[in-house]
Order: sequence, then structure tokens, then C-alpha cells
Amino acid sequence: MKIVTVTSRLFAANAYVVVCERSGVAAVVDTGEDGSGIPEAIERLGARLDKILITHGHLDHVGGLAPLKRRYPEATIHAPAGDVPLIERAAAQGAAFGVPVEPPPPIEVLVRDGDRVAVGETIEFEVLATPGHSPGGVVYYEPRAGVAFVGDTIFQGSVGRVDLPGGDGRTLLRSIEQRILQLPDDTRLLSGHGPPTTVGFERRNNPFLQPGVRLD
Ligand SMILES: [Zn+2]
Repeated sequence: MKIVTVTSRLFAANAYVVVCERSGVAAVVDTGEDGSGIPEAIERLGARLDKILITHGHLDHVGGLAPLKRRYPEATIHAPAGDVPLIERAAAQGAAFGVPVEPPPPIEVLVRDGDRVAVGETIEFEVLATPGHSPGGVVYYEPRAGVAFVGDTIFQGSVGRVDLPGGDGRTLLRSIEQRILQLPDDTRLLSGHGPPTTVGFERRNNPFLQPGVRLD
């Protein structure tokens, strides 16, 4: 699996282009606030975009859905059922930040905990429900590659904010402990913002994941 990171200008949100190297089929995980830079990355890779996978419904992850879908109408949009109401309010979320956001097109495939999402011939994501940062947020985990796209649940040395609508600190810590920290220590975690990290590094060093810490 080849992975290219595209970081958005305004919110420094990471979108990831993942490519099955055997077939040249690609998926994008999250879109930044406007999708800019993603088509260029896909073209450079010579890949064919098949799916757009959304971790959660905040505008800096879904604002690029409309322009990407326009450019790649054959790519299907996958997003967590529990965050569809947030996604449908993306334009209003943008307005709250003074950022123009195009209303996203309809979500075509709702993903739920335990679902599998294939990309080409060599990539198969498992969907892990990880609510807390948002009501319906999910992680896309690829066990053979040892990579998890974790959205804004966990960052190198930090965790997602829980003060946005539908956020909840206890729920977020439970999601991280029960779903993300259960993955093998060398699993690479690719976050919605900031640099990559690993499960083992965060278990040992993340101050929010030490015994007795509460987040509420
Ligand atoms: Zn977020």
C-alpha cells in the first residue's frame, strides 16, 4: 500500500491518498476543507480513484467532498452513519468559521463498526467505531499493512477535542482504549492533523492515556 499525505492549507487537516500498487486503484481518506492538492496527488501516482472514505463529519475533513465528487464522479463516498447529520451541516459548520464550504453530495455508502472496505486487490480496511470526538467517528484499519487512519481520535501526544457538538471525553477515551490501543504496538497511526505515530508510542507517552486521567 502506497500512502501520500495531503495537508490542507487552512486547517492543516491531513487527507491521505492510498493506492493498491498491484491494481493502481486508490482511495482518499478525508478531504481537507476544500480538497485542494488531492487530485494532483492522484494524478502524480497515476492512480484511479475508486472510493472516498470519511472518518468523521467535521468540515475540515468533508469540505472537499463536493469538488472531489465532481472531478471523480465514479468514486463512491463512504462515511459513518452516525456522522451523516454533521456532514449534511458542513456548509453551516464552515459559516461558523467564516469559511465557505460547498454542501457535500449525498453519502452513498454508510459504514458501521465491523464493515470491510476493499480498495483494489491488496487493501481491505476494517471499520472500527470510535465515537467521542464526534458522535459517529470511525477508524479505517488495514491489518496486513499495519496502518490505521484514525481521524481526529488520537494525535501524536494528544487526543481529539471533545468540546464540539456531539463530542464526549469519556466516550473518546473509551474508544481509544478499547479499539485503538488494542491494535498491535507497531501499528502506524495516521491522524487527521499532525505527524504519524504508533500505538506503542502513544500507549507509553501520550499524557491523556496515562492511568487516572479523565477527560470531561
Ligand atoms: Zn474533527
